Amino acid sequence: MRIAVIGTGYVGLVSGACFAEFGHEVTCIDKDVSKIERLKSGDIPIYEPGLDVLVHKNVRADRLIFSTEYTPGVPEAQVIFIAVGTPASRRGDGYADLTYVYEAAREIAAHLKDYTVIVNKSTVPVGTARQVARIVSEVNPNADFDVASNPEFLREGAAIRDFMHPDRVVIGVDSTRAEETLRAIYRPLYLLETPFVITNIETSELTKYAANAFLAAKISFINEIANICEEIGADVQDVARGIGLDGRIGKKFLHAGPGYGGSCFPKDTHALLRIAQENGMASRIVEAVVEVNAAQKARMARKIRKALGGDEGGKTIAVLGLAFKPETDDMRDAPSVTIISALMEHGAIVRAHDPQAMKEAVKVLPHVTYYSAPYEVCEGADVVVLMTEWNEYRALDLERLRDCLKQPVFVDLRNVYDPKAMKALGFCYHSVGRRTVNGAEASSLLGRD
Ligand code: NAD
Repeated sequence: MRIAVIGTGYVGLVSGACFAEFGHEVTCIDKDVSKIERLKSGDIPIYEPGLDVLVHKNVRADRLIFSTEYTPGVPEAQVIFIAVGTPASRRGDGYADLTYVYEAAREIAAHLKDYTVIVNKSTVPVGTARQVARIVSEVNPNADFDVASNPEFLREGAAIRDFMHPDRVVIGVDSTRAEETLRAIYRPLYLLETPFVITNIETSELTKYAANAFLAAKISFINEIANICEEIGADVQDVARGIGLDGRIGKKFLHAGPGYGGSCFPKDTHALLRIAQENGMASRIVEAVVEVNAAQKARMARKIRKALGGDEGGKTIAVLGLAFKPETDDMRDAPSVTIISALMEHGAIVRAHDPQAMKEAVKVLPHVTYYSAPYEVCEGADVVVLMTEWNEYRALDLERLRDCLKQPVFVDLRNVYDPKAMKALGFCYHSVGRRTVNGAEASSLLGRD
C-alpha cells in the first residue's frame, strides 16, 4: 500500500521505517527542513537502537522517502498517519496541545485526491478524530475519506522491536472500509498472531491514555512503597519481587526510582485528568499518581542533599545518566532536569555524563558541565549520583570510581548496585527503598554484617 506519515519524530520515523519494512511504500513528511535534510543525507536525527539500519535498508529499496512537502506523498497515499507531537499546552493547564494535529489535518485536506483513510497515531484526547474529520470536510467538502484512531504503544529505546512485535494493535474505526484498509496495512502482524482490538474511535483514543496512566500508577505505587521501606527498614526490591511474581500483578514497571518522566507519561496523565474533568468526572487515582511522582522527584533531591551532610551549597555533584531512561537521547520531562535544577538552586556545582543525551541535555540544563567519560565526571566530586541505568553504568570499575571521588559517597537512584558489595568497597551508599549503608563506619565491623 502507499502510505504517508506526517511528522517524522520518534513515532513517525519508526512507524514509517517499519511500514516500509512490511513492504509498503512510505513517504515520511515533516515540516522541519533540517530534520528532512539530515534524513535525506542518511543521518538519523534521533538516537534509537537499530533505526539507522532499518531506515537505510528501506531507503535503498525505494520503499521509504522523506519530504518537507505534502505533495506528491499525500495525494498518492491510500492511508495517511498523523504522528505529530501533542505536547502539554504551554498554558500549563494540563491540556494536550492539538495545534500540530489540526494544522496537519488542514494541510492533508487540501491535498486529498481519492478515498483515503486518515489515521491519528499521535496520542490525542477523546473527540480529536471527530475534530479532524470536521476540519477535513470544512477545508475540502468533496474529500472522500474516513478518520481512524490507531494509538502507538512503542517504547523509546526498544521502539523497533515494539512496533514489529507489539503486544496488541488497537484500531478505532467507524467504517468497514477503514477497518479493512488498516487490517491490510498490519497484515504482517496479523500473520504473527498479534491480538487486534478493533473498536470505536472514542474507545481507541481513551485506551492509549488508560494504558499510560496505568503504567505510571505502577511506578508511583512502587515509589510510595519504597518510601515506606526506607522508614521501616524493608527492601523494596524484595517487595517488588514478592508482589510481581503474582501473575495478577506482574513484574514489569515495579522498579523504584526517581519518578517517571519522558515525552508521554507526564503529559498523558495530565491530559487524562482534563478529559475526566471536562466530562464532569474526577480521576482521583490519576491525580494521586501525578502528585506522588512530583513528590518523588523532590524527595530524590533531598536524598542527595542528605548524602552530602544536609547542604549541597558549593559541593560538586557528579551525575551519571540524564535521559529519562536508558537507550534514548530524549530529555523531555526527564527527572534529572527537576532534580539537578533543585540542587543547583541551592548552590550545587553539577557535572554530568550521558552516553547519548548530552546534546539534548545542554538545551535544558545549560549550566551543567558535561564530560565525555564517567570517571572524569567523578574526579574530585563530593558525591556521585546514578540517575539513569545505562548498561555502561552497570559495570563500572567501582574501585577506580571510588578513588576518583573526594569522598566515597554514592547515591544510586536506580538500585543498580548491591548495598553489601558497596559497603565492602567502602562507599557510603544510598539507594531507593533500601537501607543506607556506610562503608567507612562498617570497615571496623567488616564480616559482621
Ligand atoms: P516528536 O516531537 O519527536 O515528533 C513530532 C514531529 O512532527 C516533529 O518532527 C515535528 O516537526 C513534526 N510536525 C509537527 N507538525 C507538523 C506538520 N503540520 N506537518 C509535518 N510535520 C509536523 O514527537 P513523538 O515523540 O514522535 O510523538 C508523536 C506522537 O506520538 C505524540 O502524540 C506522542 O504522545 C505519541 N507517542 C509518543 C511515543 C514516544 O515514545 N515518543 C510513544 C507513543 C506515542
